[in-house]
Amino acid sequence: MKAPVYAFFKSDPVFQHIDGRPCHVFTCAAAHCRNPTNTVRRYLDTKDSNSTSGLRKHAKKCWGPEALKAAQTAADANTVRSSGILASGSFSGAIDKIFERFGKGRVTYSHRAHTKVESRAECVRWVAESLRPVGVIGDRGFLCIAKTGRPDHYIPSPSTVSRDLKNSFVKCRTRIAKYLQVRVCSNEDYRGEVVGAKGLRVGRRRMGNN
Ligand SMILES: [Zn+2]
Repeated sequence: MKAPVYAFFKSDPVFQHIDGRPCHVFTCAAAHCRNPTNTVRRYLDTKDSNSTSGLRKHAKKCWGPEALKAAQTAADANTVRSSGILASGSFSGAIDKIFERFGKGRVTYSHRAHTKVESRAECVRWVAESLRPVGVIGDRGFLCIAKTGRPDHYIPSPSTVSRDLKNSFVKCRTRIAKYLQVRVCSNEDYRGEVVGAKGLRVGRRRMGNN
């Protein structure tokens, strides 16, 4: 059985000699690694060749302390892999959760302040969901409520939110277009076209003989 932290790395570490020393090289499993390199070396000729501290340190940065903490309650790496903790890609999983929470039961608030990225995501969600102008993000009253007691707390500028909003829209549209891509028919009228649900044409794709 392998310790839960191994789940944050690709399952087979590579055995190498680096500067003549035997070494296991673990590759980070995050979609977007947040460390300077996406590998962790563990030299086998040292006393703590079984230590997982380097792996934990790396995983914490890539997946966030909460994911690591959640993983460490699991029995082993395989349990973590099948648990869904890793399903969200990497640290940005926290953002997926923000959107997932929508409309499900009682709203609760975290004891942890939003990270910069989460704060940007929350602002995008807020203005989109509640149809607010992005200028409201720079509003004096709002900033007073958001920053009192934690003056260093990051709130994005209205122009950042505006840019994020446009980027989110473009990404969502691409994603939804993908969901809608259904091959409907291959008769003369529609040959070569990909037709989405309700006949909405969302793109062209070369068709084979079938
Ligand atoms: Zn990483």
